[in-house]
Amino acid sequence: MRRSMEFDYLIVGAGFAGSVIAERMASVFDKRVLIVDKRPHIGGNAYDVHDDSGILIHKYGPHIFHTNSRQVFDYLSQFTEWRPYQHRVRANVDGQLVPIPINLDTINTLYGTSFTSHELEAFFASVAEPVSEVRTSEDVIVAKVGRALYEKFFRNYTRKQWGLDPSELDAKVTARVPVRTNRDDRYFDDVYQAMPKHGYTRLFERMLDHPKISILLNTDYRDVEGILPWKEMVYTGPIDAYFDQCYGPLPYRSIQFRFETQHVKQVQPVAVINWPNDHPWTRVTEFKHLTGQEHESTTLVYEYPTDAGDPYYPIPRADNAALYERYRTLSQERPGVHFTGRLGTYRYYNMDQVVAQSLALCARLAGVRRSELALA
Ligand code: FAD
Ligand code: UDP
Repeated sequence: MRRSMEFDYLIVGAGFAGSVIAERMASVFDKRVLIVDKRPHIGGNAYDVHDDSGILIHKYGPHIFHTNSRQVFDYLSQFTEWRPYQHRVRANVDGQLVPIPINLDTINTLYGTSFTSHELEAFFASVAEPVSEVRTSEDVIVAKVGRALYEKFFRNYTRKQWGLDPSELDAKVTARVPVRTNRDDRYFDDVYQAMPKHGYTRLFERMLDHPKISILLNTDYRDVEGILPWKEMVYTGPIDAYFDQCYGPLPYRSIQFRFETQHVKQVQPVAVINWPNDHPWTRVTEFKHLTGQEHESTTLVYEYPTDAGDPYYPIPRADNAALYERYRTLSQERPGVHFTGRLGTYRYYNMDQVVAQSLALCARLAGVRRSELALA
């Protein structure tokens, strides 16, 4: 093949991690990019599609965009308009649907009390079990709201979700969910909360629509890396798979999704209901709340966590971090291959964090500051 046909970057994975690099490298630095994904579509786990009933669903589970980064929000805004959306979740606990994150209404509903915020603070202080060092996902919650609430809302959900007890997981897992003493019932408190107006897949189509970007789907990079000429690789798949699991497999948690369409307009009062203590599923999402779509029917997805299947969640624990560190050290011996993304760096990252991480990598590769890059 002629040298001019050479790709500057072979990018493995067309999710947020890979697509941000592809887009910036092509449109800012005029690089020739090939993005390869083994799945039949772009978008990675954020992929959305209309189901047989015409309802827009997220194939790999509910994806709600939220960020505190103006830079990330402005960057993505080049490829989508937004639908303002504040995410709300209820937990089914003791037969009642109550707000999660735990807030003033959660407690007053659950216990039949009429606490004020001030009184609730005193209540939490009276039931909290102080720990000298908050290390695990059990510590985080028990230290804030005590054991009874921990058991009602967190212990069993976490055991289902991760196949591990919260005491076996890093604090940061359950620390994702705040505890409030006011009546704020939003799941996130980020500055920017919105859904891409025409869906994630459309956003990705616009990102990757560039004459310098070629896309190859249904293709494992291993089938082309030795055939097509490229200078550098950006790899966003699981880092242990890249190295043939030479130090042993990194653990991931997977999920089986069961979609159900009902011929009614609406089933749930909010987008997501969490089921900490009953049923084998963790949560049920009704997509129309997220997308704002008008339709006579509605589709829900039930999530059944499992060890087998696609790697969706890195599992935050010290031993896994140590194993990842060994792979990361190995990756430094491959100067022409760059690892990014949730699986490429084994981090429990949200979409916005992955976008920020890939913008940072892109800036580093191009030798510019990140602030110069995002809106160039
Ligand atoms: P991915 O999207 O996983 O993309 C990696 C791509 O690499 C995949 O498409 C894969 O097919 C491809 N690949 C892997 N190996 C190969 C290979 N050998 N050859 C070719 N291609 C390969 N984040 C939020 O911000 N908000 C949410 O509400 C939210 N909800 C989530 C719900 C669930 C159930 C899950 C699993 C995740 C959720 N996330 C959410 C996280 C979000 O999905 C990730 O942060 C983001 O999608 C990660 O992007 P990525 O590009 O790193 O990885
Ligand atoms: N969690 C819980 N009960 C809940 C909600 C969350 O125990 O009702 C714990 C659980 O361990 C979960 C973690 O908090 O994995 C993070 O929750 P989040 O909703 O952020 O999970 P994700 O959307 O990433 O699956």
